[in-house]
Amino acid sequence: MDTPLNVLIVEDSQADFLLVERHLRKNGLTVDCLRVSDLSELTSALSDKDWHLVLADYNVPRLRFEDGLALIKSRSRDLPIVLISGSLGEEKAVELLKLGVWDFVLKANLARLVPAIERNLRDAAEYRARRLTEQALQESEERLRQTLEAAGVVAWELNLATGEIRESGPVWQLFGRSEGFHHPNRETFLRSVHPDDHDRVRIRLSGKIGDGETFNDEFRVLLSDGTIRWQTTSGSVVRDEAGQPVRILGIARDITRRKLAEEAAHRANAALLRSSRLSVLGEVATIIAHEVNQPVGAAKNYLQAARCSVTDPRVLSIFDKVDAQLTRTVATIRKVREFAANRTLELRPESVRSLIDEACAIGLLDAAVRSVSVTTQAPDSLPRVIADRVQIQQILINLVRNAVEALEGAAQRHIHISADVVSSGVEISVADTGPGIAKDVRNRLFTAFTTTKTDGTGLGLSTSRSIAEAHGGSLAAEDRPGGGTVFRLVLPPEESAHA
Ligand code: ADP
Repeated sequence: MDTPLNVLIVEDSQADFLLVERHLRKNGLTVDCLRVSDLSELTSALSDKDWHLVLADYNVPRLRFEDGLALIKSRSRDLPIVLISGSLGEEKAVELLKLGVWDFVLKANLARLVPAIERNLRDAAEYRARRLTEQALQESEERLRQTLEAAGVVAWELNLATGEIRESGPVWQLFGRSEGFHHPNRETFLRSVHPDDHDRVRIRLSGKIGDGETFNDEFRVLLSDGTIRWQTTSGSVVRDEAGQPVRILGIARDITRRKLAEEAAHRANAALLRSSRLSVLGEVATIIAHEVNQPVGAAKNYLQAARCSVTDPRVLSIFDKVDAQLTRTVATIRKVREFAANRTLELRPESVRSLIDEACAIGLLDAAVRSVSVTTQAPDSLPRVIADRVQIQQILINLVRNAVEALEGAAQRHIHISADVVSSGVEISVADTGPGIAKDVRNRLFTAFTTTKTDGTGLGLSTSRSIAEAHGGSLAAEDRPGGGTVFRLVLPPEESAHA
């Protein structure tokens, strides 16, 4: 053996120490032995060196064996301690084993010593290796725990036979509980699920997933204070050799923020749609009023003329009735117009950037699948504009939708949205690389019912211009240098409202 075995010998007798040392060497061990016989010698010896083995006599006058043992154990858990004693009762031996002695050898039977040492050294090496593995495992579990916690993800495992659940990660965060909370089993978990989602989630967790082996689900969690949170979870079934489902492994994550944002977008969309219908109604009412008022006015004039040549009171009474109906028609149309026109704008200072972002979020949902690239440029320094948020979004959505549609089939498909300060306010421009405005609609682009699309209404741009003008702003279109179209929407800045 090249490296000597460091052996610490707890022994008061120098003669016995030498005897043991000689015995070890004689039996082929390269050893470096040191004798200690009291607590202070033991203490400093333990600090001085890395020991491989302790051989201890039980009866050392200046060192109570149990004290020495406790000290050694406190310094090194894997250091084998072999007791060499004259004689030892069975009871005492059991007691000392409990205290941490590894093995016993009787002084009278020293022949057993070297095999005992070799066995215990092997055991010690094994313990150390196991401890290192456990430590590495613990460290990797800790890393996993930290990663899951940082990502807000819970990893879970459900035993389908017993219903037991094992969870790692920030369970308490997902379920609004105090730190360290875990669900012991499926039933406790299901109690956290919102009653409306309960049955569906129960089926998911029964292992009867159907044809596929994995599932994804979004469900609500009901917290003890009545708040609702959303979670998404995905799981996959693990089967035994016979193909029977035994476990489900899965991960879960809180998606409450995403759900709230979706709901807000949905509400905004609904408001937009309402507002859009009203704007269209206003446009249509104006056109109908114009188209109907003229013939009704003419009819009234003819009626007036006819009256002069009729004296029959019965015919005159019929004329009166016709006149009353025509007057009613005019009044009805006026009322519809007034209703549509009198919509009050809800004007507030709005950030241009968020107006653009929100409109893009709705209007450009399919840009990527249509291979349309989009860039936006809106400096943070821009003043806010005075706007009815929903209505301005309606204009912007209309402009970006028109741009996306114009780019259909174009070789280069790009939309650039930018905002800048101009003399009359803040200008938001939407530029595309499409074919440009068709010649035959160029002069009446903002006139209602102008469209080149088979399914178009031709009301988008006329409504948008009306809204822009109602804001004290403007909407115009021009050719983009290099091809395509630029629409420019100008809105009054915040300061001008206070001027
Ligand atoms: P619709 O989209 O229903 O046709 P609009 O009033 O929004 O109604 O648009 C009117 C017309 O203006 C469109 O049919 C199209 O011919 C033209 N147009 C609008 N935007 C663009 C654009 N970005 N590029 C080319 N033509 C456009």
